[in-house]
Amino acid sequence: MPDDLYARYQDARRAYQQHTDTCRACTPTGPGSDCDDGRRRFVRLARLQDLYLTRLKQRRTR
Ligand SMILES: [Zn+2]
Repeated sequence: MPDDLYARYQDARRAYQQHTDTCRACTPTGPGSDCDDGRRRFVRLARLQDLYLTRLKQRRTR
């Protein structure tokens, strides 16, 4: 079974990275306060990263 969560996490990371490459308001550490597109992408990335790291931790303790 392919690791779907990891793929989506990488996808979101790429999407946000591509945005910061062209957006002056957003940086790799966070979106600009008045950039809706950047904030949307960053929230999605943060959520997936959280899920992914949580799952990694659960695997380690099991
Ligand atoms: Zn932006």
